[in-house]
Amino acid sequence: MIPFVDLKAQYISIKDEVDAAVAGVLESTQFILGNEVKAFEEEFAHYCGADYGIAVNTGTSALHLALLANGIGPGDEVITVSFTFVATVAAIGYTGATPVFVDIDPVSYTLDVAQIEKAITERTKAILPVHLYGQPADMEPIMEIARRYGLAVIEDAAQAHRAEYKGRRVGSIGDLGCFSFYPGKNLGAYGEGGMVVTNNPEHARTLQMLRDWGQERRYHHVLKGYNYRMDGLQGAILRVKLRHLDAWTDARRANAERYDALLADSGIKTPTVMPYSHHVYHIYAVQAEQRDLLQQKLNEQGIQTGIHYPIPVHLQAAYSGLGYKLGDFPHSERAAGRVLSLPMHADLTSAQINTVAESLQSILQGTGI
Ligand SMILES: *Cc1c(COP(=O)(O)O)cnc(C)c1O
Repeated sequence: MIPFVDLKAQYISIKDEVDAAVAGVLESTQFILGNEVKAFEEEFAHYCGADYGIAVNTGTSALHLALLANGIGPGDEVITVSFTFVATVAAIGYTGATPVFVDIDPVSYTLDVAQIEKAITERTKAILPVHLYGQPADMEPIMEIARRYGLAVIEDAAQAHRAEYKGRRVGSIGDLGCFSFYPGKNLGAYGEGGMVVTNNPEHARTLQMLRDWGQERRYHHVLKGYNYRMDGLQGAILRVKLRHLDAWTDARRANAERYDALLADSGIKTPTVMPYSHHVYHIYAVQAEQRDLLQQKLNEQGIQTGIHYPIPVHLQAAYSGLGYKLGDFPHSERAAGRVLSLPMHADLTSAQINTVAESLQSILQGTGI
């Protein structure tokens, strides 16, 4: 069996370091926030090229608080994409604001910048681009439009740790950048985790309070806050893993190159790297006409794949109240029906990639999918 992700292989490769870090936290009893989390905040913010990092309990909380730090709430609108993980949209809803969707660019799968201006109204407060699959959205025109209309830009970088846009790391390009450390992400905790990074000291101060009950100091609640704190264990584990992220990212990129080469003449559509981007391949998604059949056949041959994501958010039952319908975002809908994520992680071997490519090709030839 070739697994889609392999968290066990990764753990074994860093077991001694992780076990020592965990033991350190148990000894210190700093189970919530504490020195390890503080050190991780500094190291990860620095890694992203940002001045401040505010660690939280999930990527969703990071998005929620980043929106709140900009004063976004009921009556406001936030422009984002429908072709994303539901959390992007849920976080906007948590503030009471309304998500306003624009379509994706069908080549990059990220927000189509040509669609932004006609979605702007006097209620628009922010643009929330998603660096989907580990490829940055086209940030320069997004920042230009945002500045012109006085909008905040919050990056959903949950899938894009260490990705670069024109040589700059994502997360530090917009006003705030939000990361997830869900176990399967490129930098994953052993539990839940998230972080907001920013260069804005006022936002940093607000976020530090919001994640911990809005306290300025203990029991002095100046904001209506949340319990969104990061665990000490996660901070310590993530510090260890951050030291390996460059190597793991290089391995993902090499694996993607190998897939690209092996699938070049297969007739299947492989990912396109935009000229401005350093792609970190959280997901390696191909496109196929008969995607579901292809997935089933690969599964029969012991190859696990995924679909990210089969239903765009504007067509999800939970969001029917937003009033969108089939046909509103054709590129998002088309991608949702065709994308298939192949096994991708740093510990994938060349032999495994060869097997996946060979199986794919033999299925395509044998069935005419
Ligand atoms: C994973 C993810 C999130 C949410 O992160 P959690 O840590 O699971 O809350 C948000 N946006 C995108 C695009 C994601 O992939």
